[in-house]
Amino acid sequence: MTLKALIFDVDGTLAETERDGHRVAFNQAFANVGLSWHWSIARYGELLHVAGGKERIRAYIEQDQPPIPTHWDVETLIATLHQRKNQYYTDGLRRGEVQLRPGVRRLILEARAQGIRLAIATTSQPENALALLETALAPDAPGWFEVIAAGDIVPHKKPAPDVYRYVLQQLGLPAHVCLAIEDTEQGLTAATGAGIPTVVTVNDYTREQSFAAAALVLTHLGEPQHPAQILAGSPLAGQPAMLTVDTARQVLQASVLANDVTVFHRAGSSSKSTASTDLKPVI
Ligand SMILES: [Mg+2]
Repeated sequence: MTLKALIFDVDGTLAETERDGHRVAFNQAFANVGLSWHWSIARYGELLHVAGGKERIRAYIEQDQPPIPTHWDVETLIATLHQRKNQYYTDGLRRGEVQLRPGVRRLILEARAQGIRLAIATTSQPENALALLETALAPDAPGWFEVIAAGDIVPHKKPAPDVYRYVLQQLGLPAHVCLAIEDTEQGLTAATGAGIPTVVTVNDYTREQSFAAAALVLTHLGEPQHPAQILAGSPLAGQPAMLTVDTARQVLQASVLANDVTVFHRAGSSSKSTASTDLKPVI
């Protein structure tokens, strides 16, 4: 099976943006408009079950019923907070406060060198995704990605598969030649809902989620001197690992053979015997 494209989620996948980026910026926005609200690390972890910043604020208002000064209309307040939070977040990014996770730069550079196409599929706002790429990866990094699908580009956010379907459509590729990289169960559901084999790199907020549908689950993408740990999806679970373009190809092949008989048959092969044994050299 040919690997044609890698499709990356942004928040939590490229960088630990949630706890130290978005959460801090939300709290700055609350203070900026005179609210006494504060999202702790633990509370924010719960709110992360809601995808999208505006939706997250709305969920918090509904669940916690925090004090809202009477001069604020709720819809206006949500829109104002979201806009200011994005400004604080982008300012923090521009100051270099958010770093890429291990292996992200390595894999992206390797993919570019080998002609693997790159795309972004995120519920994050476009300006946030671009700011992270420019400051943490390279000033011209947004241009490395053929498609940057972000924010409200599709009506239904993750876990709906819409953003991934949009990316596939823009790339002009079928799902089974792409590999998605995600960090959450929501993101995994979105990617696999579009039929895309998915590698999950967990973080502290997502480690306990269910990733049964993932082709591979790792602690991060891995560096030569800082390998990841395989958590699930390979017979080599528990061993040191690094996701390279070569191993990504093998993950894709094993996943497609194991999960999608239709594609398998269409590919013209008559033997399934390699499906499980091909897992061995995955990492
Ligand atoms: Mg994410």
